[in-house]
Amino acid sequence: MHDYLLAKGSPYRASLHTHPIELVALTHSKKWMEKDAATKMLWSMIPETKAFCPRGLGMVPYMLPSSVELADATIKAIDEDYDVVMWEKHGVFAVDTDIMSAFDQVDVLNKAAQIYISARNMGFEPEGHVRRPDAGTYRRFWFAQIAFDGNILIPSSTP
Ligand SMILES: [Zn+2]
Repeated sequence: MHDYLLAKGSPYRASLHTHPIELVALTHSKKWMEKDAATKMLWSMIPETKAFCPRGLGMVPYMLPSSVELADATIKAIDEDYDVVMWEKHGVFAVDTDIMSAFDQVDVLNKAAQIYISARNMGFEPEGHVRRPDAGTYRRFWFAQIAFDGNILIPSSTP
């Protein structure tokens, strides 16, 4: 993966693989393995999700762990415009400029999955928010807030 990113001229220098329970649980359903179905649901749980993971969540069907086929399918998914890719019934793979940014993407996606699952456990399908401000606006806002006082606040000017 590192050779691929360097050869491509990518600014990304970090890749992360882990097994976040709630995200992996989603991949046990054909519904959430459909292209961008999980992305849309996860983005709608909390605004941070799209701010920290603006390119969404790619999906790769189950393949033998550590296989060349899995590596090739992961590179293809990243080429198609994802920074974070789920490996069905296994785990997640993320790339970014540094390891903390890669972790943040996975962490916010898994938090959104936990919210979805919590709502379902309370017996209802979560509404989700339907307004999706552009990711650039959100990124600028969040990082300005974090730099200012370390807190994250909901922007009052959200369209
Ligand atoms: Zn693994």
